[in-house]
Amino acid sequence: MQSLYSDTHIELRDSIKEYAKRNLSPIAAKIDSDDYFPENVFRNMGKQGFLGVTIPEEYGGSGLDYTSQAIIEEELGYISAPFALSYGAHSNLCLDNLFRNGSKSQKEEFVPKLCSGEWIGSLAMTEPSSGSDALAMKTAALPDKDGFTINGSKTLITNAPYAEFFFVYSRTGEAHTSFAVLSSDKGFSRGTKFSKMGMRGSPTGEVFFDNLHVPKGRIIGAENHGKEILMNGLNSERVILSFIFLGLARRALELSVRYAGEREQGGQLIDSYELIQEKLAYMYSRYRASRFLCEDALRKLIDSPRDGLSAATGILYTAESAEYIAREALQIHGGYGYIKDFEVERLLRDAILGQIGAGTTEIRKHIVARELSKSFQSNGNIPE
Ligand SMILES: Cc1cc2nc3c(=O)[nH]c(=O)nc-3n(C[C@H](O)[C@H](O)[C@H](O)COP(=O)(O)OP(=O)(O)OC[C@H]3O[C@@H](n4cnc5c(N)ncnc54)[C@H](O)[C@@H]3O)c2cc1C
Repeated sequence: MQSLYSDTHIELRDSIKEYAKRNLSPIAAKIDSDDYFPENVFRNMGKQGFLGVTIPEEYGGSGLDYTSQAIIEEELGYISAPFALSYGAHSNLCLDNLFRNGSKSQKEEFVPKLCSGEWIGSLAMTEPSSGSDALAMKTAALPDKDGFTINGSKTLITNAPYAEFFFVYSRTGEAHTSFAVLSSDKGFSRGTKFSKMGMRGSPTGEVFFDNLHVPKGRIIGAENHGKEILMNGLNSERVILSFIFLGLARRALELSVRYAGEREQGGQLIDSYELIQEKLAYMYSRYRASRFLCEDALRKLIDSPRDGLSAATGILYTAESAEYIAREALQIHGGYGYIKDFEVERLLRDAILGQIGAGTTEIRKHIVARELSKSFQSNGNIPE
């Protein structure tokens, strides 16, 4: 099989590693302990060309691809999963989704600002009473004289406390439509910034729309076609965000191999004990299997973006494995693993989000089982 990674990708991996090592490594613990969002480091990612990595150069992007976005997620996830989560919400969930579905004038007006980091972006789908059942949203846009008036609220939105641009899903009658909403729009307000168990430093909050007027030109894609955009967006989001947890798992495994090779108990290094070796062997196998599934899902995202099965399979397995690997990493570190000065307890808290964001583990299982049964009923085969 041909490698996913070209020379350009290899160079990009080196440069994002270098950027993260210089700008994030020294503050990764502070991001967690102080729930600190390093806004300047984030906005500066635009100047380096990382924010608009999938966007053509004529719109201010770097003209690269999803593989590049996945590489950035993996390397950020290795150093700081919350920073990687905020990056994913901005660059994939919001910006890439806008570029794929937006009109020419929306691309000209909004995309360059999101690529440069002048604006931070969010995707606002979840509401207080609709999470997994996203289409049951209550936020509604009613037609007015030259556009729509939106009323409603969104919650648990990554980057909401800072974002200037929101990709918003709303009801339009029985159907759904996506809209571009700006924080400067009259009727827009922000609510609580949540304090979280993990992914601290990735700001998560509420937003409210109170008789917020948008002209027709703010519809993203076609009116009443929001459901299709939402479903396709979720596929891409699952594939790209799964790489955060691949990076996190790699970090947890590396810390564990190093610690087990240094820590002596009973007159010998703990990595000479078979029970520790068993842990390392399972951790490594699950990490490698996650990599194959993530990369398989990425290939399918590039070739056929509507393939929900591989996207759900990849993130289902990778998120569960990252949590398993981080938990085993903590156990290998013994009592020190439980102490905040050691990174592994943070990795475990961050890993747990992997089973909640981008559709929960339960919803992913539902998608996988449904797609298997659909395929079997139509051609008697299990999909490869
Ligand atoms: C840190 C963080 C960042 C987030 N960022 C964003 C963001 O940027 N944008 C955004 O729109 N949302 C975001 N979310 C919201 C996230 O997508 C939702 O939390 C998630 O989809 C689950 O919805 P819920 O929390 O309402 O849980 P619910 O849907 O109420 O689920 C509760 C439980 O019931 C289970 N369940 C629900 N339905 C079914 C079913 N049909 N079958 C079996 N089990 C089921 C779930 O799996 C879960 O275990 C974020 C959440 C967090 C925690």
